[in-house]
Amino acid sequence: MRIFEVIRALTSNRMVEEWLVDLMRGYNNTSLQSKNDYAAVVFMDGKLLNQLILDGLKALPDEILVGLDYNSEREIHDSFLTEFAGNEYADNLFAGQKYIIDEAMIVNRGDSYSVHHLPEDWTDDMFSATRGSRRSRFTHFLHTHPNAPAIPSHADADAAQETPGVDMILGLRFSPEGPLPWFDDVEGRRRSFADAEAKTKGGLFSRRPPVIGRAPTGHFIHDIQLIAFHKRGFGINIVLVDENGIPY
Ligand SMILES: [Zn+2]
Repeated sequence: MRIFEVIRALTSNRMVEEWLVDLMRGYNNTSLQSKNDYAAVVFMDGKLLNQLILDGLKALPDEILVGLDYNSEREIHDSFLTEFAGNEYADNLFAGQKYIIDEAMIVNRGDSYSVHHLPEDWTDDMFSATRGSRRSRFTHFLHTHPNAPAIPSHADADAAQETPGVDMILGLRFSPEGPLPWFDDVEGRRRSFADAEAKTKGGLFSRRPPVIGRAPTGHFIHDIQLIAFHKRGFGINIVLVDENGIPY
């Protein structure tokens, strides 16, 4: 029963690496500029994102599926909600809206087909000790796309139907690529952390894309993409916040 081997809580003493802070500022800026394209926004702790990037790289070549919870004691401040809510903003679209996501647990790993399979009867029993029987399900889910854009597949859209919150995808472009060469042939809206300048520097004449970060696993990171979507099919905007709940 492989799932037992991979379930573990993510540690709380996380650090945010400097290169990621700069990238999160850029990402948040795009979230602000494009706020009118989204019906809602979800807030995530930047330390948690940092940890998810590392866990995603550690699990290669697998994808990981992560259950996410919001912290009921960390409601986003009204002023930030007002700042990032667009013209089409809707209240009560999903569970945990307005609360910062800062808890995560890896619940499965596998390829793009098997990663979503969460046998509910096993997990309900397994989580009941730590989470209590009524909290056995997670509010949100995130899974990784190693060397592929963060754009939902049909399997991803199907899996999202059971999610009370939002589904998130973390796309990681890295080298050395190992058995997973960068796969780019996907249609959809992208939300990249690599800025326009970095992309230009990669340009026509360089043999590989620019490096935006270096992971403790030894990987060079060339791009990070992050999206959230609602089970009804529309995108949800994302804002990364620091430990005080302030957007980077
Ligand atoms: Zn996927």
